[in-house]
Amino acid sequence: MTYIDTCIVMQVVDSLNDDYIVQLSKYHKAFIGKTNLQQISNYIPANYTLTSSWTVYGDEKYDYVSIGLERKLPYRSIQQINPTQIVVDIFGATSNTNWITQMKSVKEIRNVNYEQIEDDVFRVTIDLKHPQHWGYFIFYKKKALVVRVKRQPEKLNIRNLKIAIDAGHGGSNTGAMGASNIIKEKDYNLKIAKELEKYFHRRGVKTFMTRNKDIDLGMVDRTLMLRKEDPDILISIHHNSASNPNVSGVSTYYRYLGFRLLSETILKRMVELKLNSFNNIGGFNFALNGPTEYPNCLVEVAFMSNLEDEKRILYPAFPKQVTKKIYKGIKDWIKEVK
Ligand SMILES: [Zn+2]
Repeated sequence: MTYIDTCIVMQVVDSLNDDYIVQLSKYHKAFIGKTNLQQISNYIPANYTLTSSWTVYGDEKYDYVSIGLERKLPYRSIQQINPTQIVVDIFGATSNTNWITQMKSVKEIRNVNYEQIEDDVFRVTIDLKHPQHWGYFIFYKKKALVVRVKRQPEKLNIRNLKIAIDAGHGGSNTGAMGASNIIKEKDYNLKIAKELEKYFHRRGVKTFMTRNKDIDLGMVDRTLMLRKEDPDILISIHHNSASNPNVSGVSTYYRYLGFRLLSETILKRMVELKLNSFNNIGGFNFALNGPTEYPNCLVEVAFMSNLEDEKRILYPAFPKQVTKKIYKGIKDWIKEVK
């Protein structure tokens, strides 16, 4: 559904394979990895949890919506476009809010509102000023649920952005293998990532690389590293593979609607390389499409399992060609969101 903060009590009602099924509210359940839960005893669930006052405020970098609650409850978030909204459902909450303080320090949030959409589901709606989602992060500060909203940069220019680059796989995790040669995906992901870094630096663009060597790096480590680094956008580089050797081409992936445009503008430029279009894919459950904190895009450059694509991947000038197209795709995106 999305990421959830720690130390939230949920009742386990069933189990399926590696997941527990937890009851969120009367009509809603969720799946959560068994390793992510810790059992507590002698817990008496509350019949009602009331919401209280809110504060909407800003600091130098972010806007915040802080929603008072009697205890930490599970929640989910959705990105809406046209109009641009962040919608947060708090499960098990009943409205007792009658006070929303709105400070002048707020810059990106246009309006906040709430609705009791079910007896025990409280919906928070945050309207944003800009059409583009720049990301948000939800966490608990004591018992208040806080939505931290990233603002659109005042001067929107690629040189004012910090771009994170993620080279997929690495170390013992080799990724896909070539169709005819013994080439490993991890090496070709890194080649392109390094080329991107070089290209961005030459143009005065700040970057962050999740890895710049052939090392083992798990998805949780990558995610936490990126959360700390707080980039403006993330580009993940992978190469595709299919059991059918005829499948070929470039594809870009997003999970949340608010981040779709970036993946579209990059794909549009990538197909200029005369690669087949394997399309723009939405709702994709890839770990690094999961963060809501920054717009992110997975680029599956070409198919390692296709002979024609493999030839392109092996061509020494290919990483530079790909880099130029990704750079142009990001520039196109900036032009469109301005
Ligand atoms: Zn991969």
